[in-house]
Amino acid sequence: MKDDVYEPKPHVSENAYVRSMIEYRKLYRKSIENPVDFWSDIAKQFHWETPIDRQKFWSYNFDTSKGPVYVKWLEGATTNICYNLLDRNIRLGLGDKIAFYWEGNDPEDYSRLTYKKLREEVCKFANVLKSKGVEKGDRVAIYMPMVLEIVVVILACSRIGAVHSIVFAGFSADALADRLVDSQCKVLITADSVYRGEKLLHLKAICDTAMDKAKEQGHEVKHCIVVRHLQRLNAFFESKTQNHNGCNGDAKNHYDETPWNDDRDSWWHDEMEDADPSCYPVWVSAEDPLFMLYTSGSTGKPKGVLHTVGGYLLYAATTFKYVFDYKPDDVYWCTADVGWITGHSYVIYGPLANGATSVMFEGTPFYPNVDRFWAIINKYKVNQFYTAPTAIRALMKYGDEHPQKYDLSSLRVLGSVGEPINPEAWLWYYKLIGNEQCSIADTFWQTETGGHVITPLPGCTPMKPGSATFPFFGVQPELLDENGEKIIGEGEGYLVFNRPWPGIMRTVYGDHKRFEETYFSRFPGYYCTGDGARRDADGYLWITGRIDDKLNVSGHLMSTAEVESCLTEHPSVTEAAVVSRPHPVKGECLYCFVTPNDGIEFTNKLASELSKSVREKIGPFAMPDVIQYAPGLPKTRSGKIMRRILRKIAINDRNVGDTSTLADESIVEILFKNRPENA
Ligand code: ATP
Ligand code: MG
Repeated sequence: MKDDVYEPKPHVSENAYVRSMIEYRKLYRKSIENPVDFWSDIAKQFHWETPIDRQKFWSYNFDTSKGPVYVKWLEGATTNICYNLLDRNIRLGLGDKIAFYWEGNDPEDYSRLTYKKLREEVCKFANVLKSKGVEKGDRVAIYMPMVLEIVVVILACSRIGAVHSIVFAGFSADALADRLVDSQCKVLITADSVYRGEKLLHLKAICDTAMDKAKEQGHEVKHCIVVRHLQRLNAFFESKTQNHNGCNGDAKNHYDETPWNDDRDSWWHDEMEDADPSCYPVWVSAEDPLFMLYTSGSTGKPKGVLHTVGGYLLYAATTFKYVFDYKPDDVYWCTADVGWITGHSYVIYGPLANGATSVMFEGTPFYPNVDRFWAIINKYKVNQFYTAPTAIRALMKYGDEHPQKYDLSSLRVLGSVGEPINPEAWLWYYKLIGNEQCSIADTFWQTETGGHVITPLPGCTPMKPGSATFPFFGVQPELLDENGEKIIGEGEGYLVFNRPWPGIMRTVYGDHKRFEETYFSRFPGYYCTGDGARRDADGYLWITGRIDDKLNVSGHLMSTAEVESCLTEHPSVTEAAVVSRPHPVKGECLYCFVTPNDGIEFTNKLASELSKSVREKIGPFAMPDVIQYAPGLPKTRSGKIMRRILRKIAINDRNVGDTSTLADESIVEILFKNRPENA
């Protein structure tokens, strides 16, 4: 079967940084054959207080039999990432340029921040951190909503060489406590409370519980600084109208209700009032740590990934520029929360390194209505939009009329990240949101990779729905079979990388052994992603899902992505997840969880139609043994399906393992209860 290929539209290609596959291949070859020249050219645009030494440009060991695994880029050079993101851009004349349009949970609540103002706030807060005793190398924990202050905190840390550790502000007090202890942070920054959609979350109260628990485990957080967010919002709406009926109207006076410990806690606005607005950057080594961040926990206990300054700067900046084809007048919007790696690299570091103007959004795609994303694109005339398949699938099910109400013609590039995007969702994104005029960047990457590693480039790559296509500059992927033999040409195997690029992680924080075991023990000499991939006849790479999620039915190897795409092609199905279950004869069999569209009932008829279509499209061996109705699926807080929990439900084993990153625990019980009788 020939895949459909979608060429980039001329208006996207014409002015793109990379306009043809010939240009792409030329640049790619240079990045592989001569990485020193390739990355030196890019590094020139940034400020290095101690210049880069070409002799010590990069070095690494990926083979545990030859000694400890390590990666180094630009050893000996010193710089400051905050200086490069703010001061350097201001010197280039971008001081009055908008860095962020901020759009609150409530559509009436919005603001903006210029590069100059951002630097002023950052310097003030850097001085606040210093006044709390934070020094170079110290960890600062952040548990904040999507407010502009989180950008300020991150950059203030990097200005003084402190290491930030952001914990997504949806995690439980227990998960936060573990991370506070793990990072041994001195200071925690949070906000009083925040609305996400109609839900009010009391962040400070969660922090208090977490700090108590951390103390029980022997780690005391010395200072907690609290942004007055909910109270500002209440005051804002009170001044606008006495009878504001929005979700925020009845939440007055939370200021007084915020739990407080005078010895430890202080308000952000009090701290900032007299803070000095100038702060000289601390020059740090390129290989000094920049931040630590936990993976999503889809496959097990999250790993605390450590990234360093120099290589991460180069890589976040370069991937942002090329993958979104960002031009100086564009408005870019990434919907990811800053609590995930996507937020780190593509809400904060990548865009600011390029002097970009971004939208930052506090709310959810469903509030006040399911058209919120499209309304925001229309409001800010967004040119590049970057979101996750889980959001696309969720919005698809509400029908086409919502995006159709808006003028989305400003869009040029549509990005996707987080999970394989099934062709059904890809096509909806392409047609309904992009009006067949945009390039889609299906970006494959991980917390560990720091930035995109396999991705199309908008101006040059002919797209195939569901394929992440080709490697980014400097990245050399290979496919290996079970025995570590290279798969040449067409085939499917373990996706690995045989050399580092500047943005790859350096270690698991405080546990280098886990780093080596997790990523380098399976195939010595290679970084193993843990994902499978297929290379087609045209050399395109298709991510097939986690290796752990592979299905082997009667000796036929299949990927979950393949079967799931087939199920979601059915017009009544929004989402599907497939896992394997041991079977006495076949070895393994397929157990499918299916979520129908809004308003569609799950019937035996639907189940048998689905079975039939899997049999026809994939083969009789792939016939599902069980198709279970799933009103929802267990997902990580970053929106990924946790198949390891579904595997437990399939065998009716209540021992579901680490659930600290599960978004909604209740769905697990519902699915156990919903197991069909014959299952
Ligand atoms: P953990 O490592 O704790 O199990 P996680 O792997 O989900 O969690 P992340 O680093 O947030 O944590 O996610 C990276 C993973 O997301 C990749 O390994 C891959 O499985 C998946 N992924 C990301 N982008 C894509 C994409 N475009 N196509 C397919 N899969 C993707
Ligand atoms: Mg992972």
